[in-house]
Amino acid sequence: MERLQKVIAHSGIASRRKAEQLIQEGKVTVNGKVVSELGVKVNRNDKVEVEGIPVHREEPVYYLLYKPRGVISSVSDDKGRKVVTDFFPFIEERIYPVGRLDYDTSGLLIMTNDGEFANSLMHPKYEVDKLYIAKVKGIPTREAIKKLERGIVLEDGKTAPAVVKLVSMDKKKQTAIYEMTIREGRNRQVRRMFEAIGHPVLKLRRERYAHLTLQGLQPGEYRELTPHEVKQLR
Ligand code: URA
Repeated sequence: MERLQKVIAHSGIASRRKAEQLIQEGKVTVNGKVVSELGVKVNRNDKVEVEGIPVHREEPVYYLLYKPRGVISSVSDDKGRKVVTDFFPFIEERIYPVGRLDYDTSGLLIMTNDGEFANSLMHPKYEVDKLYIAKVKGIPTREAIKKLERGIVLEDGKTAPAVVKLVSMDKKKQTAIYEMTIREGRNRQVRRMFEAIGHPVLKLRRERYAHLTLQGLQPGEYRELTPHEVKQLR
C-alpha cells in the first residue's frame, strides 16, 4: 500500500505537494470515486486517475548507463538517431534519462521511471558534484584555467567556481586533458566554459555524478543502482 500523493508524484505528473493539492481539489479518483482527503492509501490494483487520465503505476527502477558518444539523451528521436533507451531493450518500465548529456558527450547518465526522484535531481537547488574529463584544443595558460576556477561569465550569467585539474598535455598535438568538477548543470556548461577561455572541447566524458562512477562499465553498458545508492542521491 502506498499513499495516493506518493503514487501520483512517482508517476512524474506532479510534485508531492502539487499532488496533494490535486487531491484536495477533487481532481483525483481511485477506482472511479473522487478521493479528496489526504492520507488515503492505494494498492497495486487500484486504478488511479488525475483529471480522468490514468496514472501509470510501475515499480520504480533506477539504472546507471554509460552513455556512448553519438546518442541522444531522450526516449525517441524524430530523425531516427540512436537514443539512450535503445540500450535497455529488455526493460519494460518506461524509463527516461535524468537530465541530459550532449549528443557528443559520453559518460554517466541515470535512467529511471521515478518522476519524483528525477525531478528532484534536476531541480536547480539540487547540487551535487559532477566530474567531467575534457580534452581541449590548445594548451590553456594557468591564468586561463584560473578564470574557470573563479567562475566565468557566460551568456546566462556567471558560473560557480569550478575545480579544474590538469591530467595531461600533448605539446606536439597541442591538446590538453582536464578534470573539471562542477555543481551546476547548465546546458553545455563544460563546453561553454572552455570555449569562453578560447579552448574548445574536443572530447567530453562525465566520469562521476555525486558518489557514482562509471567503474566496471563499458560505453553502452548499464547496471542497476543499489537501494543504498538511490537513498544517497535523494
Ligand atoms: N557539459 C557539457 O558541455 N556537455 C554535457 O553533456 C554535460 C556537461
